[in-house]
Amino acid sequence: MAKIYIIDVTNRDGVQTSRICLSKLEKTMINIYLDQLGVFQSEFGFPFTKHEINYLNANLALAKKGGIKKMRLSGWLRAVPQDVNAAFDNCPRLQHVNLSISTSDIMIKHKFQGKYGRADILKNVKRAVKAAKTRGAKSIGVNAEDASRSNMDYLVKFARTAHEAGADRIRYCDTLGKDSPFSIYDRVSQIAQAVPIAIEIHCHNDLGMAVGSSVAGAKAAVDNGRDAYINTCINGIGERAGNADLVSVILAIRYGAGLNAGTLDKRIKLRTAYRLCKYASYALGIPIPINQPGLGANAFAHESGIHADGALKNRKNYELYDFHDLGRGEPEVVETGRRITVGEYSGIKGFRNVYERMAIKFDNDAQAAKILELVRYANIHNQKPLVQEELRFIAEHPDIAKQIFSMEP
Ligand SMILES: [Zn+2]
Repeated sequence: MAKIYIIDVTNRDGVQTSRICLSKLEKTMINIYLDQLGVFQSEFGFPFTKHEINYLNANLALAKKGGIKKMRLSGWLRAVPQDVNAAFDNCPRLQHVNLSISTSDIMIKHKFQGKYGRADILKNVKRAVKAAKTRGAKSIGVNAEDASRSNMDYLVKFARTAHEAGADRIRYCDTLGKDSPFSIYDRVSQIAQAVPIAIEIHCHNDLGMAVGSSVAGAKAAVDNGRDAYINTCINGIGERAGNADLVSVILAIRYGAGLNAGTLDKRIKLRTAYRLCKYASYALGIPIPINQPGLGANAFAHESGIHADGALKNRKNYELYDFHDLGRGEPEVVETGRRITVGEYSGIKGFRNVYERMAIKFDNDAQAAKILELVRYANIHNQKPLVQEELRFIAEHPDIAKQIFSMEP
């Protein structure tokens, strides 16, 4: 049976969004959380962008030493051979890439302005896939930007070209969020029937349909025997009105009428969702909306008489799923008395106090001093108080942390 996997694009599409920013340490923490959630692949950044390179190489090293266990890390590139070669020069351990190019006549005409026609785009795809294969890519996705506004016959031809060149997946991008669940089901079905290739579904939320269109597109692929890979962002962030929300997509496949929970990648463990989404909210500086599916403050709240009474009698009266399944329900301890924190101007005594409270011990003073220095840099790097998971990460992976903080324009 064909399956649905999750490729999260928070660390690429999410952070390229206007007024949204994550530090390289925060992006790293998000990769670790996504791995714990069982996400198949994190599109972790741009391997041709200079300020990303140390972070990307550090995360590839982290994966090699087991700090990221199963999740693939993939780079986003333009589908041109020079970008592919630059990416593999910059990140020699890179194994997974997505190569992107526009396929709609609107973008071909108004973005490329005569530089490329439809045929040139197919030629570029062939050359870029070949270059990635030559450089040792283990998996390649080819992105059809603006697929939802592309000519259907041309889109099929594009998918066939990518497949014949050796790509593993094609990414159907609803770049402007124009698709509805009905249109995307129809269009993805046509691709799936014509070309034997796995299909990524990448939807934006401009009409509020990103999650609906994502699961409908994935269902179309699966119904036609192709694996589907839904692109998501944590807390639904992303360009303009956002991308498809990670947790909502998982909940929709598990509990949505007409969808099959058995098609979802078995590795998904939603129990870490609450921690992940709370961390992302803190890192991004963007609160989780009160009504966000599964994670909002009101997602399991009941007040009106009939609802409260019904939920108390049996939660199934008014709740579709259990809050425990999302990792909610644990009490949270908030310190209201004296508090020692650690940051950019900390000394060794306060530092040791903070780490002792987390039950982390150091072999000797030199090691403690080394971690303290990294913690100072981490605070400068993040420009906000460090959380326990970050402090723990720095103590466990000091050399990787140092590489992440290193940046030279
Ligand atoms: Zn996008």
